[in-house]
Amino acid sequence: MKMAEKKIKAIGVLTSGGDAPGMNAAVRAVVRHGLTKGMKVFGIKRGYSGLIDEEIIEMKAGNVSGILSLGGTVLGTARCKEMRTPEGIARAVEVCNKYGIEGLVVIGGDGSYRGAEKLANEGINVVGVPGTIDLDIACTEYTIGFDTAVNTAMEAIDKVRDTSSSHERCSIIEVMGRNAGYIALWCGIANGAEDVLLPEKYDYDEQKLIDNIIDNRRRGKTHHIIVNAEGVGHSASMARRIEAATGMETRATILGYMQRGGSPTCKDRVYASTMGCLAVDLLAEGKTKRVVSYANGKFRDYDINEALAMTKEIDPYQIEICSSLSHNYYKTEEAALDVDEEL
Ligand code: ATP
Repeated sequence: MKMAEKKIKAIGVLTSGGDAPGMNAAVRAVVRHGLTKGMKVFGIKRGYSGLIDEEIIEMKAGNVSGILSLGGTVLGTARCKEMRTPEGIARAVEVCNKYGIEGLVVIGGDGSYRGAEKLANEGINVVGVPGTIDLDIACTEYTIGFDTAVNTAMEAIDKVRDTSSSHERCSIIEVMGRNAGYIALWCGIANGAEDVLLPEKYDYDEQKLIDNIIDNRRRGKTHHIIVNAEGVGHSASMARRIEAATGMETRATILGYMQRGGSPTCKDRVYASTMGCLAVDLLAEGKTKRVVSYANGKFRDYDINEALAMTKEIDPYQIEICSSLSHNYYKTEEAALDVDEEL
């Protein structure tokens, strides 16, 4: 330990923003690794609201028994307006001081990091852990919950696809992700969707979709799956317009909150556990204003402001292959046939 670093005796952990499967694995890791490091660990209920309202319990190893396989977050989560005010921050700091909480692990998204940064400015050491199914945190290639959510969505889409084929329907399946298209893109590839609508790319050219459906129909395809991202939305009205234009029965299915629940996958449990431990290690080293990340095959950490200033782009190569594997190959085959015929 360097001379300037103070040894942290007590830390707190909270989950904030939208819940995500795997958050419990991260909470468990913070509690158990913190105890291993000789720290007192406090669990803070309902995110920043619970901090301000003093809903705080001292955690022992047994408090996190049996939670690894549970979806949601046993600590609960909330959106807390008060944290956006100077009074709310002052109150949160006061409560931390009252309990002797010198370090805080905040599991959540960008919004939660902004709150954490303000607490750090008031002397509470903070480390953020990326928890969101949307994968929309720029500094990291992995966020807790994405893997489970995308697997849940994939399984649901497989099922809708079965019935769409039997009934020769077009299905528009809306997946979550807020303004990010990661869940939609991954499902587009994993489910072999005919079309994928991403908020980052969609040009609102419905005629192109209609032409694709008619084209596929002509070639004898029995179904047409469109994976639509939440950020594009309007699946029900889109289905009505597509049915009217193509004559193909078209149904919209909005998967909704089922994607946020369920037992976390192995990857979410392992990565969330690793990130929880890393957050504790950073606090133990006296670090603050850090966020944990997974990038280029390694777990690492960034300065919170640097992380908040980063942007990331949905992988253009993944978009290209998604399109190539859906309907474009027909066009290539057809072009080849045309050439053969000309010869
Ligand atoms: P998700 O992306 O999963 O919804 P998030 O952490 O981005 O997660 P938000 O609702 O944006 O979700 O933020 C969670 C909480 O963090 C807010 O309810 C609020 O208490 C706090 N917070 C957000 N932005 C700020 C801010 N600028 N200053 C202080 N606190 C903030």
